[in-house]
Amino acid sequence: MDSPKIAVIGAGVVGLSVAKILQEELRGSDISVIAEQFKDDTTSAVAAGIFRPGPSFRGSTQDITKKWIKDSWHYWVNILKTAEAPQAGVTSLSSYLFSNNSHVTRNHLIEDLVPVYRPVTGEELKICGGDWKYGAYYSTVLIECKRHLPWLEAIITSNGGKMVNKRIDSLSSLRGKYDLVFNCSGMGAEKLCGDLDLVPIRGQVLKVDAPWVKTAFYGDYDTYVIPGFDGVVTLGGTRQYDSYNTEVCKHDTAAIWERCCNLVPGLKRAKVVDQKVGLRPHRTPVRVEPELVEGSKVVHCYGHGGYGVTCAPGTAIDAVKIGLDLLKTNVKYKI
Ligand SMILES: Cc1cc2nc3c(=O)[nH]c(=O)nc-3n(C[C@H](O)[C@H](O)[C@H](O)COP(=O)(O)OP(=O)(O)OC[C@H]3O[C@@H](n4cnc5c(N)ncnc54)[C@H](O)[C@@H]3O)c2cc1C
Repeated sequence: MDSPKIAVIGAGVVGLSVAKILQEELRGSDISVIAEQFKDDTTSAVAAGIFRPGPSFRGSTQDITKKWIKDSWHYWVNILKTAEAPQAGVTSLSSYLFSNNSHVTRNHLIEDLVPVYRPVTGEELKICGGDWKYGAYYSTVLIECKRHLPWLEAIITSNGGKMVNKRIDSLSSLRGKYDLVFNCSGMGAEKLCGDLDLVPIRGQVLKVDAPWVKTAFYGDYDTYVIPGFDGVVTLGGTRQYDSYNTEVCKHDTAAIWERCCNLVPGLKRAKVVDQKVGLRPHRTPVRVEPELVEGSKVVHCYGHGGYGVTCAPGTAIDAVKIGLDLLKTNVKYKI
């Protein structure tokens, strides 16, 4: 098929990663990224963006999960090696993780992937506030979507892609307009697909000005301090299952501030510059699969929960492959 018309629903890190990889694989394709929200208004822009998949991130098999994580890691490291890394919002980052539960400080998903992942020494256990029993130190990458999404948009549009600001009320409303549709709508898939397995996990964070913080720190109870670009540090957080509340909650603010200042006492003199709330689109397994929706060829790629920045590229590579295979098939579609 010459120059197929393709729609990508969603301009978060997943949709834009799909669009970029698709352009690389299918030169000359006619791609429209259609989304209600762009850049800073997406959930992706709420994330600190640390590469650190957790055990709740799962594909349909363990092998698929591992492949997504590995492909993603190599994708980020390849960007890190280029001069464009700062514009792309990608940087290397070291992190300490402290806990009073030994299993929390292990991460079987990345221990063999990142350059360093080791238990901390007795001295290191005392670096932070708190009486910690266990700890790990590891090197990873950080992807800040405040920079990364505009960078992706610029690449996609310079290669002929279009950004369309529009809400899609149903997948079937695109019938007749596209040869292939990628559904990367995050929480939006709940309505678009009637997917009851997709559940929001509410996260609130504080953004503070603290340019002296150069390392990420984690403590128990979802306490984290993650430095990003321009001296802005993300303090978190909350993980509220099935909560749709997108308003900043002052009780969460107080709890995050207290927990983070206990962990890294120097933060007490940091100025809060912003507060954000996002709904992590959680689904087990993450949905990356084709579907014929009333005859239309659709590839779903959503449900990345708290690990969508980390694993967007790995899932996008698979989604694009599925989409290209689908384009080649002779399935009779009504669009
Ligand atoms: C507080 C917090 C911290 C986080 N920290 C990290 C982290 O450190 N590392 C990490 O890997 N992940 C982190 N995450 C998770 C990460 O943010 C998500 O997994 C990721 O953003 C999901 O990306 P997405 O593109 O699927 O969704 P989104 O960013 O929500 O994008 C969805 C897109 O679809 C569009 N859309 C939806 N429905 C429709 C519709 N009907 N019509 C048109 N457009 C539609 C939206 O407008 C938007 O453009 C964090 C999340 C939160 C909330």
